[in-house]
Amino acid sequence: MSAEAGEEQVVGDDWTAPAGSWASSAANRRSMLGNRSRDTSPELALRSLVHRAGLRYRVAAKPIKGMRRTADLLFRPVRVAVFVDGCFWHGCPEHFVPPKTNPEYWREKIGRNVARDRDTDARLAAQDWLVLRFWEHEDPAACADLVKQAVDGRRHHQRPARQSTPDIPADGAAREVG
Ligand SMILES: [Zn+2]
Repeated sequence: MSAEAGEEQVVGDDWTAPAGSWASSAANRRSMLGNRSRDTSPELALRSLVHRAGLRYRVAAKPIKGMRRTADLLFRPVRVAVFVDGCFWHGCPEHFVPPKTNPEYWREKIGRNVARDRDTDARLAAQDWLVLRFWEHEDPAACADLVKQAVDGRRHHQRPARQSTPDIPADGAAREVG
């Protein structure tokens, strides 16, 4: 089912984009806001479900020291890094639509973001991290299940640690959710 054009639902929201603005669709706006704040609602929903499943994690943490890439949920002991990618900023094949103003600029910019994501994936994989990426449009419950499976799986197959740094107990960075 898809909403008729012009009947876009904006629940509990009185924000109105200027007519013709490239931010005039709710999806675009949500993605724009998502880029400003780490705590986008799909990410919060996922965090809450994962937390409820009994898993603990760090939020907005860097998997690799010195690498300026931040995972949304980080399970350091089992080396699982979870990213919730915004449909606009990360170029979702289903939802990315370049804004009408300067479409080439945006295509290029988003293309760079995507390339950076793939580079992040490769660097993490090279250091034995498991990378899980979800689109913000995906069902948080299904994503949470995959996260749990991945973390449990890595736990069971964990090899004797060859860690250079000891795991530091949660110091408040791993926030309680829910
Ligand atoms: Zn999407």
